[in-house]
Amino acid sequence: MKPANSVLSSYGTTIFTVMSALAVEHKAINLGQGFPDTDGPKDILETAARASIEGPNQYPPMMGIPELRQAVARHNKRFYDLDIDWQSEVMVTSGATEALAACLFGLIEPGDEAVLIEPLYDSYLPILKRAGGVPKLVRIEPPNWELPREALEAAFSEKTKLLMLNSPTNPAAKVYSMEELQFLAGLLEKYDAYAICDEVYEHLVFDGRPHIPLMTLPGMRERCLRIGSAGKTFSLTGWKVGYVTAAPELLTAAAKAHQFLTFTTPPNLQHAVAYGLNKEDAYFEDFAASMEAKRTRLAQGLAEVGFDVMDSQGTYFIVTDFRPLGFNGNDVDFCTHLTTEAGVAAVPVSAFYQDADVDHFARFCFCKSDDVLDAAIDRMGKHFGGI
Ligand code: PMP
Ligand code: GLN
Repeated sequence: MKPANSVLSSYGTTIFTVMSALAVEHKAINLGQGFPDTDGPKDILETAARASIEGPNQYPPMMGIPELRQAVARHNKRFYDLDIDWQSEVMVTSGATEALAACLFGLIEPGDEAVLIEPLYDSYLPILKRAGGVPKLVRIEPPNWELPREALEAAFSEKTKLLMLNSPTNPAAKVYSMEELQFLAGLLEKYDAYAICDEVYEHLVFDGRPHIPLMTLPGMRERCLRIGSAGKTFSLTGWKVGYVTAAPELLTAAAKAHQFLTFTTPPNLQHAVAYGLNKEDAYFEDFAASMEAKRTRLAQGLAEVGFDVMDSQGTYFIVTDFRPLGFNGNDVDFCTHLTTEAGVAAVPVSAFYQDADVDHFARFCFCKSDDVLDAAIDRMGKHFGGI
């Protein structure tokens, strides 16, 4: 066979698929890959079913059905007081993953630099590099995940096309503060750069913190492409419905890629997500509150087992340092051991770094029923003898 694309072929299978397969093989409780174990609201599912039966089920408009684009614009106004023109500033994509790819392929010119903050979601680097971009990586480090201001200043230059910012952050579970965002906004202004803002966990923010889109800061309205995901907001991760909000010129650039990547997204799902985004405030409040309670439940259990547990300010995830358990080996060894021997799957945090030198942290997912979380803690407690 002639060689496949060298950027993509240098990557293995994603860690989420690897750990989920191992969990199935060993009948482990899967706290690895991030997905809820119960589906989202029944009325949203019914809306999708009805829309599918009633049709039409033919190609929807390339930018998304008007109802969903209007709902995304209204959602931006309701939660962030952003005035968005649904016709020129909203695009529907097949998941946030496609949105990220469309923004990168649409904006990056080979040789452009992009600033990324590790640990980062696994699709960012391969797609950026495939687009010909040059990554400039900086790190936030556990346990406090503080913004490395000097490193960020050094990473930005005249060659910087954009920043990729994920808040709330997978896997660090950090929610960026106003002050941190102001610092980043200053760099974007100084170097005339854009930001691709991955805000898929926008409604999963805990302990009374606000989620602040970078786009709401002065001067950022024209620089940011804000990405959301119905999969996360409505606990329907298999649906893969995402949406991008951006000023017309930036959105047009992303749409140039979207039209050749997927072109469109299933119409019944778009109708149902439009319905979901129009739900009353109570839905969004209850959703965050129930996930916050699960966060607290799993964090307490993990601490009782003996892990050093990092603060989880948002997302589906908790990062733990497993060294206090006395395990000899790196994070991949630990997560494999945990899955095969203790019957609980987790994800090694080194998967979110380009170089696997941060190797003693494991990520656990808490968007599961309470009895599943309790059973996982019970298994780990028995295995490590901590409880
Ligand atoms: N970004 C982050 C930070 C994520 O954790 C995920 C999760 N799966 C995605 C993007 C992709 O979202 P989607 O499933 O809508 O493609
Ligand atoms: N975002 C999910 C996670 O971090 C996984 C998405 C996927 O499996 N590609 O676990």
